[in-house]
Amino acid sequence: MPRLTFLGAAQTVTGSQYLLEAAGRRVVVDSGMFQGEKELRLRNWAAPEFDPARVDAIVLTHTHLDHIGRVPRLVKQGFRGPIFCTPPTKDLAEILLLDAAHLQKEDAEYLNRKGLTKHTPALPLFDETDVREAMELLRTVPLGRPQEVNDAFSFSYRDAGHLLGAASAGVTVREDGRETHILFSGDVGRFDAVLTKDPEPAPEADYLVVESTYGNRTHPELSVLDQLEGVLKKTFARGGVLLIPAFAVGRAQQMVYLMDQLVTEGRLRAFPIHVDSPMAIDATRIYAAYPDASKASLNNIGGRSLLHGKWIKLHRTRAESEALNTLRGPAVIISSSGMLSGGRILHHCRQRLPHAENTLLITGYQAVGTLGRALLDGATSVRIHKGDVPVLAEVRDLKGLSGHADAGEMMRWLSGVGRAPHAVFVTHGEPEAAQALAARIGRERGFEARVPAHGESFDLAAGGTGGPGPEVL
Ligand SMILES: [Zn+2]
Repeated sequence: MPRLTFLGAAQTVTGSQYLLEAAGRRVVVDSGMFQGEKELRLRNWAAPEFDPARVDAIVLTHTHLDHIGRVPRLVKQGFRGPIFCTPPTKDLAEILLLDAAHLQKEDAEYLNRKGLTKHTPALPLFDETDVREAMELLRTVPLGRPQEVNDAFSFSYRDAGHLLGAASAGVTVREDGRETHILFSGDVGRFDAVLTKDPEPAPEADYLVVESTYGNRTHPELSVLDQLEGVLKKTFARGGVLLIPAFAVGRAQQMVYLMDQLVTEGRLRAFPIHVDSPMAIDATRIYAAYPDASKASLNNIGGRSLLHGKWIKLHRTRAESEALNTLRGPAVIISSSGMLSGGRILHHCRQRLPHAENTLLITGYQAVGTLGRALLDGATSVRIHKGDVPVLAEVRDLKGLSGHADAGEMMRWLSGVGRAPHAVFVTHGEPEAAQALAARIGRERGFEARVPAHGESFDLAAGGTGGPGPEVL
């Protein structure tokens, strides 16, 4: 009997990894990094629960690190098979994994220098060489095209919205002449989102593995464009600079797109937008290379090239970045990291936060303990680069840009599933969110929905209607 084992994102939102075994073959779906609490992060260092050399293939849903961050390690530990992903995911994975390798190297060097580690020396999870080796194994599969893996497995991708290149993976398992269909949702985006397309509703399957990041939440109905227009107008009326910390892949492109839209619609006169992040510039080029993968092409917004538009200034070098210190409003600076946990945005904060004409606009989730969260919570002074920085600038929060469907949108995504699956496994959510979504799926759809624990395995029945539920091992 095919077997499915949950090796990440079980009752938590990071570390997505699922092992499928059938007919002596093995496929791993996603292999993401655990992020957040130390107890979780330590799992990144644990020996894998399977022999990577005996895994036939890895199927990736999208490029966020919590879905691909353990891949270089698996390759280092002996995995040699193909790693399947969509074409944009391959391009984005390279810049994200190289960036992660670079940050880990810096962290390890810092810990070693300060003697803050019990390990001698502290090491990164993976380095640039590991990333290069993993990249050699990536094979692209476009949305909708069936891909054979071997005699036991095949799969195809469907658009999941969420992020450029993000997909759900429908896996077909063949064993003893019988087929079982398992749909892995990946991360499901919002309907009517900025730039990303609507997620394709889930198809029928024998089993569904469904994310639940916002399984107990409803996103507020607010116009992102209206909020942004208000913030820009107020800041510019003061002659200030709008500082936007943004994740370099996804959020930075959405922000440029939204501001271009405000100008194109005549709601604001054109103003300079400075993108101060080499990674955001690289990612924007990848967005532009796949014009059909998003709702709107970044190549041709308002009839001109966005990247080479008169009002968009790209800054790659440190000198170019530092030259922005003398910039006067009205203007916008987009820089990363998104949670103000590092990167060039910190030096812009040091420059801009002490002046009341400026605005800092938070555009995404800010984890507890980050500078972004402290500012949102109303800090009047913050520590940056060992100095105290008074906060006189306005701090605002742009709501409604979440990359994840809320509970109602997940039910809408599931509305295409007519025939009851044998089971729905609810993953990629904190326990309360996962339990809430599982309960709602049971209540509203009558499907058997459960929240697997980390390491839990299930035997999967073959296809057909109304079969037995999964057997807990
Ligand atoms: Zn994601």
